[in-house]
Amino acid sequence: MITMERVEKWYGAFQALHDINISVRSGERIVLCGPSGSGKSTLIRCINHLETYEKGEIRVGGILLSNQAKTIDAIRREVGMVFQQFNLFPHLTVLQNCMLAPMKAIGVGKAEAEERARGLLERVKILEQADKYPVQLSGGQQQRVAIARALCMRPKVMLFDEPTSALDPEMVKEVLDTMIALADEGMTMICVTHEMGFARQVADRVIFMASGAIVEEAPPAEFFTNPQHERTRKFLGEIL
Ligand code: ATP
Ligand code: MG
Repeated sequence: MITMERVEKWYGAFQALHDINISVRSGERIVLCGPSGSGKSTLIRCINHLETYEKGEIRVGGILLSNQAKTIDAIRREVGMVFQQFNLFPHLTVLQNCMLAPMKAIGVGKAEAEERARGLLERVKILEQADKYPVQLSGGQQQRVAIARALCMRPKVMLFDEPTSALDPEMVKEVLDTMIALADEGMTMICVTHEMGFARQVADRVIFMASGAIVEEAPPAEFFTNPQHERTRKFLGEIL
């Protein structure tokens, strides 16, 4: 579903990604973790071309990512993304937030866009807030709307970049539960998160990055009990 081969990225003279090789099968759930500044956001942002990269190849669903607008659009249709900051449109209601992209980007009619939006808002258990504006919702509710909004495009893959780290502790669970439900339905997911309980429960593989490179990857049972590298042990010692 997603392959990254020998991907390298620089910000000016600073190399942010070193020789990244990842292959994610359809239905697989990946948790990506690592210290601050290790390149996690940069890596997942490359997948839907929010960042460019200088070397290597990224393929999503068989499409080779290039700089062509057509290719970028095609890939963004397949890949939903949820950020730490919810990035909802403040001047649109919850329902309108969810209807916008399908109507504008892929020409879904208004009635169908609304039906999709309502269905997904129900799935993330927030349909009763459909006519409110983002500012009227809690952080956890806004993040669930952001997930529903991404799902309205019917993506094949979902990328999450620390979706719970801006939330008050009592709202973390409702967002993780939404992500767990999505995983249970078979969604292919790459999640940057330090929620190691989530990683243990949901991930097929945990990938650990440091200094822009992948240090190790393993199923959670192995990753947490028997990390192979000193760098990983140090990280786990700090966060667990
Ligand atoms: P965090 O856990 O804090 O979110 P991260 O693992 O997501 O960190 P990135 O945001 O991908 O890390 O950043 C990786 C490195 O690239 C960091 O050293 C960062 O300072 C640098 N970097 C990120 N964005 C830019 C940019 N736009 N210009 C220059 N350097 C950048
Ligand atoms: Mg980040």
